[in-house]
Amino acid sequence: MELIAHAGAIHLHSAYSFDGRVPINEIIAAARQNGIDFLLLTDHATLRAKDEGLEGWHDGVLVVVGEEIAPRFNHYLAFGLSEPVSTLKDSPDIPPQAYIDRVQSQGGMGFIAHPDHEGAALFHVKHYPWTDWTVIGYTGMGIWDFMTDWQNSLSTHLRAILSYAFPAFFLRGPSAKTLERWDRLTQERRIVGIGELDNHDSLKQLLGINVSVFPFARVFSLIRTHVLTESPFSGNIRADIALLLGALKNGRVYVSLDYFRPATGFSLILTEEGRSATMGDAFPLAHSAELTIRVPHQARIRLIRNGALFRETTGTTLAVAIIESGVYRAEVHLKFLGRRRPWIFSNPIYVTSLAK
Ligand SMILES: [Zn+2]
Ligand SMILES: [Zn+2]
Repeated sequence: MELIAHAGAIHLHSAYSFDGRVPINEIIAAARQNGIDFLLLTDHATLRAKDEGLEGWHDGVLVVVGEEIAPRFNHYLAFGLSEPVSTLKDSPDIPPQAYIDRVQSQGGMGFIAHPDHEGAALFHVKHYPWTDWTVIGYTGMGIWDFMTDWQNSLSTHLRAILSYAFPAFFLRGPSAKTLERWDRLTQERRIVGIGELDNHDSLKQLLGINVSVFPFARVFSLIRTHVLTESPFSGNIRADIALLLGALKNGRVYVSLDYFRPATGFSLILTEEGRSATMGDAFPLAHSAELTIRVPHQARIRLIRNGALFRETTGTTLAVAIIESGVYRAEVHLKFLGRRRPWIFSNPIYVTSLAK
């Protein structure tokens, strides 16, 4: 199986959001300079960028325009829409199941955004978690949101200054709470895990000085979402967006912090008697299959089965025989400057037993 990896950034706010500042063309230029292949834009309650013809190819960067539906709680990222699902006026009142259904009825797909966002009390940043877990019909959820993770480091003014200067060094990875819930939910059905930036480039006061949180050029190597497609992009905008969103919907996705080492080259492949599968896929197991995880640099590789550690090694490859059904995913940590850093978090392979 030859898959092509595309590194992207999901959940970004441009000047078309009431709380954004940067024109989309500047965001695209920063993405291009930082090795980003695709951008999934999510301005609040609008598809204006799409209406203005900005969706599509921009000299090597594929821009897809989605919408963030953002009432007080339960923020939702929707893609593949023909018209906006929310307005800034009605957002406070719509129950989440209603907008999940509206997205579905347009043939779109949606992701629960920053589900365990906690805010930062010291800087008066409110918390924006997902609170209604009775909902159904969503495609996936953010498993690692840059803003959630970074804001958790803002516990003192000194830490905030250091963390603003060196954000990558303060990231701790997806929260245990988020991963536990994700593992529980994936026991029931495929729930695609994505990475988020939620960057606005907003001006904030730090010790009385206005700082930008964050210039886009500074965040594109932080949380990336890598999507694997079965064929290369063709240059046809409609076909390429469908190929990208299709692979995303199927969970052929891993999420990574690429600041210390790029994660490109990561793979997780399951093979049995000429059949093979990768992350996001369902795989009916006949007897015994070989699962191989490869990483582009020496690291601690953990294989998680049904939410529990199944196998662990340090190196560039983990190979293990799989004889039981289960939901298998990888977590990789990299050592950098004496400390273990969160690096790569894959979507699971869903191994079922082959009906005899
Ligand atoms: Zn949000
Ligand atoms: Zn947002």
